[in-house]
Formats: sequence, C-alpha cells, structure tokens
Amino acid sequence: MRKFETGREAALKLRPDEPVYCFRPTVLTRDVQTFLAAFPGKTAYAVKTNGEPFVLKTVAAAGVTAFDVASRAEFEAVRAVAPAAEQLYMHPVKAVSDIRLALERYGIRTLALDHPDEFEKIRMMVQALDLDPGEILLAVRLATKGHAAYELSKKFGAAPGEAVDLLQRIDRHGFRAGLCFHVGSQVEDIATYEQALGLAAGVRDASKVPIVSIDVGGGFPAPYGRDPRTPEKAVPDPGRLIADIVTDLDRYGFSGVDFVAEPGRVMVARCLSVIVRVLLRDGKRIYINDGIWGSLSDSWTGKITLPARLIPDPARRRRNGDPTRLDDFRVCGVTCDSVDILSRPFWLPSSVDTGDFIEIGHIGAYSLSLRTRFNGFYPDTFVEVAHAFEDDRDGLEGFATVETWGEPVTEAVAGEDA
Ligand SMILES: *Cc1c(COP(=O)(O)O)cnc(C)c1O
Repeated sequence: MRKFETGREAALKLRPDEPVYCFRPTVLTRDVQTFLAAFPGKTAYAVKTNGEPFVLKTVAAAGVTAFDVASRAEFEAVRAVAPAAEQLYMHPVKAVSDIRLALERYGIRTLALDHPDEFEKIRMMVQALDLDPGEILLAVRLATKGHAAYELSKKFGAAPGEAVDLLQRIDRHGFRAGLCFHVGSQVEDIATYEQALGLAAGVRDASKVPIVSIDVGGGFPAPYGRDPRTPEKAVPDPGRLIADIVTDLDRYGFSGVDFVAEPGRVMVARCLSVIVRVLLRDGKRIYINDGIWGSLSDSWTGKITLPARLIPDPARRRRNGDPTRLDDFRVCGVTCDSVDILSRPFWLPSSVDTGDFIEIGHIGAYSLSLRTRFNGFYPDTFVEVAHAFEDDRDGLEGFATVETWGEPVTEAVAGEDA
C-alpha cells in the first residue's frame, strides 16, 4: 500500500476517479487495545465486520487471540493470519459439513446453537469423530430485546423455555454449557445488555445446569457523524457500557464463569475512510462514484450519519456557494439503481461541486465485506494513512461532529454554528 499522512494528501496526489480506501493501522491498533484494556474477559473479534487480511493481521498483532467466525472462508482467513488463535463458531445454524470442518480441521471447540436439531447435528458429528464432549463448549444463543441501530435478535435465539431445555440436553450429553447473546449492532440503549444478562441469569437458574461461560456478543457502538441541526442522542460510551456489563455480570452471579465479548464495529469503524469523487452536482444533490452497493450500504440500512469531509479540487477555478457554510446534500450512488441513494445527507460546505473529492470517515465496519460488483463498480484500491480521520483540520472545510472514546481526538470543525 502507498503511504500518505492524511486522506487529503492521498486525494490531492492521486486525484482518483475511483474510490480509494485509506487504511489506518495505528488507529486500528489503538481502538483494539482500548477495548482489550476495558473488557476483562476473552475478546473475540467478529470477523464478518471486516475480514480483510490486513485488518485481521493488525487486530491479531494488537493482541486479540480469539475470533468469532461463521463460515469456512472465515475459518481459513483467521488461520492464514493467526494460526494459533482460538476460533469461536458462533453461527447458530450451520451446515453439517461445516460443523465437521470446524471440529476436525480447525480444532474449533466452541459452537453456538439455538435449536434442538442443531444440537443433534453437533452431537452426531462429535460422536462420529470420536471427540470427547467434555472438551466442547456449546453456547445457547438467547433471543434478546433492546435498542440497537440494527436489530439481529429477530432471526436467532432461543426463548427462555427452549434455552433451559437445550442447556439440560447439553449437560446430559456431557458437553460444557454456556450462554450467549448478540443484542444487535450499534447499541443505543445502555440498558440493553443488562436486560439480556438478567434473562441469561433466569435461564441459568431455571436449568440448574453449571454454566462455564457467558458471551455478551457484540453491538458496542462506534463514533459516527452527527446531524448538526437535530440534536441526536449521543451514542453510549463503550467504556461505560463495558464497566456496566462487568458490574451486572457480578450482580447476576456470573463472577465465577468465563466472560466473552465479540466486538466488531467498535474496533474497526475508525480504521478506514474512503475517498470518493463528486461526479456531478445538481442543486442540493451530489452524485458520487460509490454508494450502497459499494462501500456505503451500512449507512443506507441504518440510522448512521457518516462524517464526510470536502477536499475541493484545486483545478476548479470558479465556485458558487459559501465555503464556510455547511449544507445538507443528498447523496446519490454510482449505480443505475434508483434505490442507490444514501438515507442520510452529507454535511458539506455549500461550495461543493463537480470534480471535488470527499473523504468519508469511519467506514471500517460492514463496508468492504458488503461491497458488490453490481453494475461493474467494485472499489478495491487501498492506501495507508498515518493520521486519524478527525485529526485533519486543514482549511475551511468541515464535517459533522464526531464523538469518540478512548484517547481524545480533535473535535470537528467549521459549520457547527452554521
Ligand atoms: C455481527 C456479530 C457481532 C459483531 O457485532 P458488532 O455490532 O459489529 O460489534 C458479534 N457477534 C455476533 C454473533 C454477530 O453476529
């Protein structure tokens, strides 16, 4: 990867007509280590969030020794960069051949499930491979309720009564029993984990089965942009969320068991930005060379305002509009699909125009892993950048406020009072 100090420098030197991803290994290392320092149990990075080899490698080098995986390709991706790392197979519904591969080839010893038929698949494979069930941890996935930008509990998870039955089956057949849940992504309500832990404690008590591990899943929120006009609720601080979870684990009697978390977004969101180009400005609309079928589907499906910074094209001599005033621009994606329009505006200086570059920050989560080749557009160019997205404060351009956690970073720029 070519190296630059900032995304702005990359944009101005490369003048790219195709999207360019700016990878920030130092930011990734810092965000991973902030999480590791805050969470007292085992931290398993959720590979689906961003499974690029250079990301997995940096996550492992920063000290992560366990990975939450869901498919053959993810088993292999982790093995390729961190052969000694532990893999947790947390997908509740699996193909029999994948269960076999996980147990036999990848030495996986922790699997999630939420249904008796899934238990049977695993039990039969363990028997066929002549493995000792006492070495295998089966974690019952609980259905939870709560507030997250992305709700995932509608699809997976056992109801309390089913979970009790599953725990007893697991125990009866000599497996180790655990509980897990995943409350959704970008959690907005601080009480979400507490409710889930209360539910887990109730299931544990009703089952009378000794639980060896409790896995609180992912969902920890990452910092994004903010609409300057509507005072949005600030995202809960992940450090505070984790401290509360630790208190609640104790309060609900889980102090003796192994704690596990499966963070994704909170670790990788800040490590990537993408430089896009304005292909056309039409009034308050801009057409860019990326979109929901490329790097930006996460912001389309969710309620996320992405921080966006204008990098004006110096070759453009004449401009209209006030460069010190931020305006909300509707962002149209590059494909011919009419749904390819971002659900939230970008806040940009009103002088933005055709040919300008925009650096979109904090797209490390659910971007590269979700891009498609639809219409022949497939962003796949990478550079390495030294500084955090929010550290670049050059010029009059502004972007909506970015909140963050861990070490302080510089605050947003012009236009807060616009
Ligand atoms: C997607 C997922 C995660 C990661 O979620 P984030 O919101 O990115 O932290 C963790 N666990 C499971 C089971 C998941 O499906």
